[in-house]
Parts: sequence; structure tokens; C-alpha cells
Amino acid sequence: MEEPHPQLSFDDTSKAFRHKSNKDLKETYRLFALMKNQSLVSLGSGIGKFAARLNVGIINSLIRNTIFKQFCGGENLLDCQSTIDELYQKSVLTILDYGLEGKSSEEDFNHIKDEIIRGARLAASNDSVPVVVVKLSGLADNDLLALAADLDHMPSDYRVAYDALVERVDEICAEASKLGVGVFFDAEESWLQDSIDRIAMQMVMKYNKTKCIVYNTYQMYRHDRLHYLKASYREAQSAGVFLGAKIVRGAYMEKERNRAAEKGYESPIHKTKAETDADYDDAIRFCTEHYEQIASCCATHNINSNYLQASLLDEKQIDPKHPHINFCQLYGMSDYISYNLAEAGYNVAKYVPYGPIKEVIPYLIRRAKENSSVTGEMGRELKYLSSEMKRRKLEA
Ligand SMILES: Cc1cc2nc3c(=O)[nH]c(=O)nc-3n(C[C@H](O)[C@H](O)[C@H](O)COP(=O)(O)OP(=O)(O)OC[C@H]3O[C@@H](n4cnc5c(N)ncnc54)[C@H](O)[C@@H]3O)c2cc1C
Repeated sequence: MEEPHPQLSFDDTSKAFRHKSNKDLKETYRLFALMKNQSLVSLGSGIGKFAARLNVGIINSLIRNTIFKQFCGGENLLDCQSTIDELYQKSVLTILDYGLEGKSSEEDFNHIKDEIIRGARLAASNDSVPVVVVKLSGLADNDLLALAADLDHMPSDYRVAYDALVERVDEICAEASKLGVGVFFDAEESWLQDSIDRIAMQMVMKYNKTKCIVYNTYQMYRHDRLHYLKASYREAQSAGVFLGAKIVRGAYMEKERNRAAEKGYESPIHKTKAETDADYDDAIRFCTEHYEQIASCCATHNINSNYLQASLLDEKQIDPKHPHINFCQLYGMSDYISYNLAEAGYNVAKYVPYGPIKEVIPYLIRRAKENSSVTGEMGRELKYLSSEMKRRKLEA
């Protein structure tokens, strides 16, 4: 375990929850307490999917006032402005994430592309928004992404759709580059990831010549990703461009393991959490070691990895405001990390997903499941909320 950083403590709940009124704090506590109940989360996920399909008013309004309010910035860009401003007042930046995924029509793909470009324009006019997110499963059909993993053997009738996808991505990156706004490519399931990596690296080569605009995401729960991060660095170095690297552990563990077992191939996921943690921390060390050529984002709610990143900056005497070293957490989670990091002077941002309620339900279900998980860091969310409740002498 990493030694806590000397000037940084995530235990200061008064700083972490200063932005929450007593009423908000209690509501958040109750929501996280409910999400600890796995049967309730399973039931809620089923109801959520049903509500998304049928647009059931009363369920939508329940979702809006609870889990949506906790984890999303709003239904559109305009709604997000108050969240962006609130975060910025506490020196926390916003990464805009138009959270639609799993779409299948050209019309939807173009709509999502246009919305991301609108986000980039808002970012350019707002010091508080440095980056927008691209999720390729929102810009192309999953079947196409899976088939395009092997371009040489992809059926020829998919070629037009693949070229259209690259064109959409290029349009976003060109606009972002012109505006000086960063673009994060999210990482997805391993069977889609080869296509994502290829396109992301294509954009890295094209747009990261003079500064880092494009970041790919590296999921350290995969046993091949530390190696791939280093290979991407060497590739960027030989081309004389910056590498952008968002480092995450990975969100699809169960799905990955189930599919591998079903189809009879070796799971790409580490066997233990300890192995994932070790690779995560090595990735952070590697990026910090090469921070002049790699712009990185330590995207995690794990306390030890956040302390590690802060300690490495100290140890190497790197300016905590260096634009190549960034921290990021998801909106609605780990405020005790984000606000304490911001107060200590580090570059910290929140991923702020937004979109129509029924469209962001898959994202909300992932957050609820993550928070009901018995592994990982999630028990801590409640632990910190409950210490702040005690400090304020509030009853649940
Ligand atoms: C800003 C931000 C952006 C993100 N973007 C992406 C993205 O683009 N793509 C994506 O996939 N995820 C993304 N995530 C989610 C991320 O991958 C994790 O699911 C989530 O953050 C929990 O991991 P953690 O590092 O915060 O902490 P922890 O709670 O310490 O780790 C939990 C994670 O450890 C891993 N793990 C748990 N148990 C085991 C086990 N038995 N064996 C092996 N590994 C295990 C899993 O990855 C699990 O999610 C993002 C997260 C953040 C904060």
C-alpha cells in the first residue's frame, strides 16, 4: 500500500462535502445506502431498462430525482452549465461526456457526432471545460467495431460504414484541435477495443503533433495493456507526436469473463484485483516518468493510486499544475478525492455525463452495480458520507 501523501488527505470530509447542504448530504447518503443492496440494484436495473424502452413517466421521474441527479449533469448541454460552474468554483474542471451508447442508425451516429462537436465548442468558450469524450460505440454499430478489429478480413460491405465512422471521428478531432480542446477516447469491451485503438492512434498521429489533443484509454484490468501502453508510447515517439493516455482499471470485468468462459477463450482480465492494481500503478509510474512526451489522466477512485500519482509529482518535483498530469473522477462519486486534490493544487476534473434520461440508463446501471459491488473501493463512498453526517451531527 502507498504511503499517504504528506500534504494531502482524503479524510478531510469537511472540505470534500462543503458543497453539499445538510439536505443534499442526507439524500446522497440514502442513495448510496440503497445502492449497497444488491437485490434492489438488480431489480432497479430491470425496471430501469423497462422504463427506458417504454418511456414510463413515473419511473423516469423517480430516476431523474435520484440516481440521474447524482451521476449526470443534465439532459443537455444547457442543463450542464450549473454543474460546470459549481465544480469550477471549487477548482474542479469538467469533462463533457455525451453518454449515448449502443446506437445503430446513421442518423443517431451523426446526431451524437454533432452533439460532441457542440460540447467541444462550449468547452472552447469555457475555461472550466478542457476535454470532451468520444465513445466509439455511440458513433458506430457494435457489430462494425467488432468486425473491424481485423480490417483485412472485414466483409467488404462494411467498408463504407467503417470509412464513415473514421470520417465522423476525424471531424470531431479536427474541430477539437482547431479549438484547442482535448478529446478522450473511452475504452470499451475487448472485442471492440482493437478498432478503437487503431482509430484513436490514427488520430493521435494526426492531431498530437504540437500539443496533446487526443487521448486513448488503457484498461489496466487487462493483462496485455501495460505492454500496449509502452508500445503506444514508442510508436508516438518514433512519429514525433505526444501520446495522450487516460489510465483506468476497466468497467466490464464480469461481461469480459462471462464471454470468455462462454466462447472458450482465455479471459483478457487479470486473475486478481492485486494484479490489476499493480499494473495500474506501474502505468501511472510509466506515464509520470515520461511526462514530457505523455499527457496522462489518472482516472480512478482508488485512494492509493491517487496518493501515488500525487507523491510521484512531489518526488520528481513536477509542477502539480503541469498540463500533462491530470486526475479525474466520475461526477457524483469520490468527492473526497476530487475536492481535496483540487484544494491541494492539482489538476482535477470530473467526467460529467449528460443526455436524455432514457439514453443514459445503461451508464446509470453500471454506476449502481459498481456501488453495490462488494469488491473495489465502493464501500468507501458510504464511509466518507457517514463520517461527514456524524461530523455535522445529522441522523440518516
Ligand atoms: C474519469 C473516469 C473515466 C473512466 N473511463 C473508463 C473507460 O473509458 N473505460 C472503462 O472501461 N472504464 C472507465 N472508467 C471506469 C473504471 O474503469 C473503473 O471501472 C472504475 O473507476 C473503478 O475502478 P477504480 O480504479 O476507480 O478503483 P477500484 O475500486 O480500486 O477498482 C475496481 C476495479 O478493479 C478491477 N477489479 C476488481 N476486482 C478484480 C478482480 N478480482 N480481478 C481483476 N481486476 C479486478 C475492475 O476493473 C474494477 O472496476 C472510468 C473511470 C473514471 C473515474
